[in-house]
Amino acid sequence: MDKELEPKQVTFSDLDLPEPLLRSLKKLGYETPSPIQAKAIPTVMDGKNIIGQAQTGTGKTAAFALPILANIDLKQNSPQALVLAPTRELAIQVAEAFQVYARYMKNFHVLPIYGGADMRGQLRSLSRGAHVVVGTPGRLLDHLRRKSLKLDKLKTVVLDEADEMLRMGFIDDVDTILAETPDTRQTALFSATMPDRIRQIAKRHVSEPVLIKIEAKTATVDTIDQSFLIVNQGEKLDAMTRYLETEETEGIIVFVRTREATVTLAEKLNARGYSAAAINGDISQPMREKTIARLKKSTLDILVATDVAARGIDVERVSHVINFDIPYDSEAYVHRIGRTGRAGRLGKALLFVQPRERRLLGIIEKDTKQKLNAWQKPTAQQLADQRKSKLAEDLSARLDNKVADVYHKMVADLCESLEQPAEQIAAALLSDKFPLEQIAPPPESKKPRRERNSRDRDNRRERDGSRERDNGRERSGRDSGNRERSPRRERSDKGSIPFEQYRIEAGRDHGAQAKDIVGALANEAGLDREHIGRIELNDNHSLVGLPPGMPKDIYQLLQKVRVKGQPMKLSRAAGGESNRDDAPRKKPSTRKPRSESSTDGRKSAKKPAKRRAPIKS
Ligand code: AMP
Repeated sequence: MDKELEPKQVTFSDLDLPEPLLRSLKKLGYETPSPIQAKAIPTVMDGKNIIGQAQTGTGKTAAFALPILANIDLKQNSPQALVLAPTRELAIQVAEAFQVYARYMKNFHVLPIYGGADMRGQLRSLSRGAHVVVGTPGRLLDHLRRKSLKLDKLKTVVLDEADEMLRMGFIDDVDTILAETPDTRQTALFSATMPDRIRQIAKRHVSEPVLIKIEAKTATVDTIDQSFLIVNQGEKLDAMTRYLETEETEGIIVFVRTREATVTLAEKLNARGYSAAAINGDISQPMREKTIARLKKSTLDILVATDVAARGIDVERVSHVINFDIPYDSEAYVHRIGRTGRAGRLGKALLFVQPRERRLLGIIEKDTKQKLNAWQKPTAQQLADQRKSKLAEDLSARLDNKVADVYHKMVADLCESLEQPAEQIAAALLSDKFPLEQIAPPPESKKPRRERNSRDRDNRRERDGSRERDNGRERSGRDSGNRERSPRRERSDKGSIPFEQYRIEAGRDHGAQAKDIVGALANEAGLDREHIGRIELNDNHSLVGLPPGMPKDIYQLLQKVRVKGQPMKLSRAAGGESNRDDAPRKKPSTRKPRSESSTDGRKSAKKPAKRRAPIKS
């Protein structure tokens, strides 16, 4: 084992978390705290203010949810913690995480509050009381104005994804909300990036903070060929088996995040004919060593492991490392891939990245000072073709050596007794060897299913980032042109969605900007960002492209939703001309047409995309 690769690992029990939380973490299969958790949990539990620089995928939600839950007084029914989130998707996700971690805390209540949801339901839930409220700024302000939400008993406030809140124009709202909270409150601010504006906001609202930034100690490894694939969680297993089928492999280590995942993935691989075993922190040291010895002796090919269990493994035969779940940071990535390319050999590493985790990929590349290659997942047809040519190769090698007479006689006997030609006999034998779908697969759907919640959010972030990845290809990021239009221009995969033009009674004179309109439509009416078209700001009104067939209730809601204090009073624009997203623009973009590719790394269909319901439920 490499001694230098074994820093003392903090456990959740070291963090003094109460027993019900430890129990739910065990049930979730979380083995050890992620780096941001190891640092933030004790600090927040101590009541200190923090500023944490962390992206999605680092485990930041548990980093604030666990210490908040540890300090909750279940007997006090009014909100003790408030989490401000920029989007309803994030608010829902965070509230769900609280619920899961608090599984064994009887009578704990968390309440998500976001625009677009039924106000009466929220009022009822608020009157029943909640220990933690997670909400988007607009709707929280509504409740504060109605006095249906009281924040006087608040102990902790979290500003989650502060940079996103800034970008979406919510910072004034955040200021107003924070003014309603007790001065004695604890504040935690999390942001993926720390531009100056965020630092100023932090200075205003977070006094004497502990700064938490996970500094990666990384070294580049040039004997390892590294690649990545952007893939949804549910499609990882299929992608991995395609990878295994096309690679020349010896020993393989597959990294996942939880104990459960080690066991279930090893089972699935065994069911698919691979020789795989799980190692995790629950498995005793002698047993782990036995399993590693099997990998060394080639009686086992695939080890499915958590970071802790695989730390320091040194097996020369490991030709591939597969990061089935992305590591929390660059340092863990370097440790993981360092399990291959041992003793001067060449190794290969593949990293699965969920669309919402793209930022982490960027960070890994930045920290390790190298670009990873985009792995081109072979199609089912390519795999089938490969199987056929491999069969031809194998048969050719076999035919080079004389096939024993007894087999020739067997074929002749079978033809005679079954009264079938040799070709039929050969076809029957092959059908036994290759199931039909392996050799003649049905055409694959081009558009993988979308993932819920944070996917959209992260696609949006991508659009705002300095670059976008397209499974290898890169495009430059933000347009340098008219920023007011950026929300529309930065569409990715809606190039051919037809839009109708609507009028909003808020314009430049009211101080409205495109981002305010997008924010109001997305958070208050729950419109999917993909379904917000071009925004044209005029002095006293604005025009916005929205999908046709808007449900009546949303139309009514958008009469009242406010932008910079002005009710939108949405109406169909005079003339109602179609504001197709691909209509010519006054000022053409210098970028490649968006229809060529999407932020998911997929070609978008040339024919009109099937229209998805514009409203998220
Ligand atoms: P987040 O960065 O909060 O969005 O979390 C990313 C993912 O990591 C979520 O699916 C969490 O369930 C998972 N996760 C968070 N902390 C841990 C941990 N300590 N061990 C394993 N998985 C975790």
